[in-house]
Amino acid sequence: MILVNDLFLEGNEKKYLEQCINTGWISSEGPFVRRFEEEFASFVGVRHGIAVCNGTAALETALFALGVKNGDEVIMPSFTIISCAIACIRLGVKPVLVDIEPETWTMDVSQIEAKISPRTKVIMPVHIYGHPVNMDGIFSLSAKYHLKVLEDFAEAQGAEYHSEYSGGKWLKCGAMSDISATSFYANKIITTGEGGMVLTNNDESARRARSYRNLCFKEEKRFHHTELGYNFRMSNLQAAVGVAQLEQIERFIKIKVKLADYYRNKLSQIKGIRFMPAKPCAKSIYWVYAVELDPRLKVEAEVVMAKLKKHGVGTRPFFKGLHAQPALNDLSLFVNEKYPCTDFAADYGFYLPSGLKLTESQVDIVVDTLKKELAA
Ligand SMILES: *Cc1c(COP(=O)(O)O)cnc(C)c1O
Repeated sequence: MILVNDLFLEGNEKKYLEQCINTGWISSEGPFVRRFEEEFASFVGVRHGIAVCNGTAALETALFALGVKNGDEVIMPSFTIISCAIACIRLGVKPVLVDIEPETWTMDVSQIEAKISPRTKVIMPVHIYGHPVNMDGIFSLSAKYHLKVLEDFAEAQGAEYHSEYSGGKWLKCGAMSDISATSFYANKIITTGEGGMVLTNNDESARRARSYRNLCFKEEKRFHHTELGYNFRMSNLQAAVGVAQLEQIERFIKIKVKLADYYRNKLSQIKGIRFMPAKPCAKSIYWVYAVELDPRLKVEAEVVMAKLKKHGVGTRPFFKGLHAQPALNDLSLFVNEKYPCTDFAADYGFYLPSGLKLTESQVDIVVDTLKKELAA
């Protein structure tokens, strides 16, 4: 079986975990948590990092930190993980959707303005499969309407975006907004098993995020609570793995980019398939290698994925749109709303094996199998 993903844990992970065990520091009070926060924030280029127990919690914590209130609205793409919507709903905030650009599968920024209402407080761009969102459009809307921006860069750690709005500079994903959130789940660029982080340059947002993560304890009056938080803390064990993973992040990204080059070259020989774009305004990190079938082949992703599985090739489907989630429709959200580009991607897109240990000869097998199955 060629796995869709794999891990690389051969750095200092074991050594740092042993230090946790040997010193007895395993809870969130241990020293690796602060170290991971500081080192990851410095990698992204942001002042504050607040480590939490997963990426979903990071999104909720970031929204809380921005000070959203019951009834506020947050604009996000329809093509994303449900975590983005859940984070809003838990805080009594309404998610509002826009469709995606077909080429990059990231939010279509030109559709945002029509969705802005007096209740809109936040735009939540989600960088998809390693590719940055077209942020310039978001920067100008955020300035025009005084909206906060929360970036979800769970899939784009290390990716960069070339911003004309910011004077033609390359900006790093996670550092382009008021606040950002990421995940260190096992399939992300670097992992802590489960984990996440909130990043911001704003001192007050950082303080609010730290408070929310830790039950809103007050520093000055410990058991006196004026707001309700969560226990979203990251343990020292997780952070120890994170510090070791972060030491290797540049190498991990190089591997992904090289793999993408190899895939692009091989896949260009196949008819009826479209693959990840390489745009001049983006340095994608190709978190996974995504492809989309030409509808003229008259075959949906599901069918092709099942055939690949039979030949031992692991794949994963694309997201289903948030508007197509029964659990959200049950809350009267997005009922009868249409996001055709999201539906198209959900039907025809999937991603190929993209693990850090994948070899070029395995990619050859993946692409040859795909080619045969599409011709059959
Ligand atoms: C993985 C992911 C998350 C959620 O992270 P968890 O750690 O699994 O909670 C959020 N947003 C995006 C875009 C993701 O890919």
